[in-house]
Amino acid sequence: MRTFAFSFSDCFLMYISEEEILDHISAEPFRLISDAADELGVEAYVIGGYVRDIFLNRPSEDIDVVAVGSGIELARRVAKKLGKKACLSVFKNFGTAQVKAGDLELEFVGARKESYSHDSRKPVVEDGTLEDDQNRRDFTINALALCLNKERYGELVDPFGGLDDLEELTIRTPLDPDITFSDDPLRMMRAIRFATQLGFFIDPDTFDAIVRNRKRIAIISKERIVDELNKMILSPKPSIGFDLLDKSGLLALIFPELSALKGVETKEGIGHKDNFAHTLMVLDRLSRTSDNLWLRWSALLHDIAKPATKRFDPRLGWTFHNHNFIGEKMIPGIFRRMKLPMNEKMKYVQKMVSLHMRPIALSDDEVTDSAIRRLLFDAGDDVDDLMKLCEADITSKNPDKVRRFLENFRKVREKLAIIEEKDRVRNFQPPVSGEEIMRVFGLPPSKPVGVLKEAIKNAILDGVIPNEYEAARRFMLQRAEEMGLKPVE
Ligand code: ATP
Repeated sequence: MRTFAFSFSDCFLMYISEEEILDHISAEPFRLISDAADELGVEAYVIGGYVRDIFLNRPSEDIDVVAVGSGIELARRVAKKLGKKACLSVFKNFGTAQVKAGDLELEFVGARKESYSHDSRKPVVEDGTLEDDQNRRDFTINALALCLNKERYGELVDPFGGLDDLEELTIRTPLDPDITFSDDPLRMMRAIRFATQLGFFIDPDTFDAIVRNRKRIAIISKERIVDELNKMILSPKPSIGFDLLDKSGLLALIFPELSALKGVETKEGIGHKDNFAHTLMVLDRLSRTSDNLWLRWSALLHDIAKPATKRFDPRLGWTFHNHNFIGEKMIPGIFRRMKLPMNEKMKYVQKMVSLHMRPIALSDDEVTDSAIRRLLFDAGDDVDDLMKLCEADITSKNPDKVRRFLENFRKVREKLAIIEEKDRVRNFQPPVSGEEIMRVFGLPPSKPVGVLKEAIKNAILDGVIPNEYEAARRFMLQRAEEMGLKPVE
């Protein structure tokens, strides 16, 4: 086996020796697989992502083992050898089995040959050789196999030049890409996802086949598509994925709202920025400061209503009035169609999108205590996330402007901390409840109750009264009197 070096993503050079590779397959379960395979007289290989990630020096959780014979039999024997430490699950219908041993999760399958029909990504499967099994893999870098049989322990089987592609940071299909993608169109999303996660290039012939086969994405479930999108969004530089989705024509098919952000229009010599490029820049900038998937989704969707709200005003130029509120309203439709969770995660994204203009509006004027209290009240515990999103949203090329905005945001953050300490309005509940108002004035649930409650809230947020029970009660009695209400208690 050769020692090899390559530059990976951010250009650090990796060297890996035969000993280091053997190190990755030295844990007890690998040795036991080796013994079990020899006893059963079958060839066994660790294959796919785990082998790829050894060379990329990435942590890998799942270990896929392929047996040239019955994967289930091999799994049973390995589980027996591991004894009490092991937990075996057999999936007869799929011809697969799983063995969990400590931190390791081993998936066993028999080598197989696959053939596909046009309308489904579920193949007809028959027993096959290692070569057949490697042929059905999506990319050359995912087809690498390390032999586990004693005589050839650690021998690399790399029929498609996967190592060369790792060295050249290339995603390439092992067989004709048109067949690979047409058979299982999910692989188009996987190609773009791996390019994004690893900072790899897609080989031009492979990429052209994605463009040609893009419409086949229609047979893939939304859940699987979103799964890949989430992995792209959680990558160090998510824009790589969205640019590739756009260039391949997939984006317009799976996410037309995002595609609609593209382009620049000019009227009377005035242009607006390309909102797609801006959105990706915001997403990349945010990804440097937060790993929160839903905050990253918020960055992706923060300007989603710009196309719907775009107007040209001869006096003002291009405007996108209320794009934050319209964006908030568009989100449930997008989440429903894409099978994203319609729960508190969605509500969080809606909140971020609706509030993303607030800190910048604050920093335009003097930052008043009352405005800060209202921001704290509306954003609650998510105010720090909101500030991160807003800071990422500053993508101006004018360094003076950037400095001014960031300085203002610093002031907003400072004031947020002071007001929060003083007034405790984050997740604020008015100190006088609706029930108390009804009891004091002998009222049924009715409009005056809401009016009084709102008046108390506003008085606290505007700093008219402190956020305390006694002050709120005095204020309530005074306002009620002005409204002609008398206490009955
Ligand atoms: P990750 O864990 O980051 O998703 P992985 O490569 O381990 O990466 P898995 O989905 O666990 O991905 O797949 C394991 C292996 O199975 C892959 O490395 C590849 O060889 C093969 N594989 C997975 N999905 C496909 C597919 N749709 N078409 C062909 N081969 C696939």
